[in-house]
Amino acid sequence: MTTLVFLDPQHPAGRLADPAAPAIMATDQGLTRGDGIFESLLAVKGAPRKLGAHLARLAASAELMDLTIPDAGAWQAAILHALAATPESQDRQCTVRLTATRGPEGAHRATAWVAVSTVSPALAAQREKGLDVMLLERGYDSDIAARAPWLLLGAKTLSYAVNMAALRHAHSEGADDVIFTSRDGLVLEGPTSSVLLAHISDDSGDPVKRLITPHLDTGILPGTTQGALFAAARDAGWELGYGPVTPEDLLDADAAWLISSIRLLAPINTIDGHSVGTAGIRQVLTAELSALLAQTL
Ligand code: PLP
Repeated sequence: MTTLVFLDPQHPAGRLADPAAPAIMATDQGLTRGDGIFESLLAVKGAPRKLGAHLARLAASAELMDLTIPDAGAWQAAILHALAATPESQDRQCTVRLTATRGPEGAHRATAWVAVSTVSPALAAQREKGLDVMLLERGYDSDIAARAPWLLLGAKTLSYAVNMAALRHAHSEGADDVIFTSRDGLVLEGPTSSVLLAHISDDSGDPVKRLITPHLDTGILPGTTQGALFAAARDAGWELGYGPVTPEDLLDADAAWLISSIRLLAPINTIDGHSVGTAGIRQVLTAELSALLAQTL
């Protein structure tokens, strides 16, 4: 069941719509060209998590692609309206998806809506079970984002067909998820997640607490969950670092995760069939970091 609320200047709190009825023009450039942006955020007990960070990234994505979208107040009102109209959101975690497209051809106005649905149990189960991941090439150099801003790397655009194709490829090979690598061999991100690794001892075996994520200027999406976790982990005494990260660094880590707003921290069991750390350390660190994340959300 999905609850749908359109952002509409004539309805300041947003306009509730029937999700089973036609609602988007067939000429909408979000449909015809994938020309638009989105955000997916988690709602717990009817309250959206990290709303400020998601609205800020939505605005940054809009700016990168010269798209005029409704302001943060209009989004917030529509989100609260959609959650209030979803009784299940009180006791089940929900995904809140914000979408803005360039609108119908010639209309010169964005189409914008909020959709709320319950989190799939399969996704939630990956937090417990962990993931077998495969590395796949994205085909770009890690410095392309600055040289080619028209690629819109770093914007959360609707053009996720490649990301979904990568996931289907992984599933057909028996893996659960993907980590993209750049042409120059660096770790980038998952199709729907950021990559995180941890060290709990240094090269000489002394204890450390170090979290590392790939550098943001490699054309990856700045993850709001990784950002929230880093802020909480710093306060809890973890050292934080940004890449470059290589596939060897992931295999050398004591634990590694795919991290994102809905699935949260999903531990990586194997990469291309090679174990990452040990099951015991993965479990302890996942519990510790998940607790930190829960405080911040
Ligand atoms: N990278 C990509 C490509 C994503 O699609 C996502 C989330 O959907 C992320 C990273 C993680 O972002 P967040 O933590 O804000 O959900």
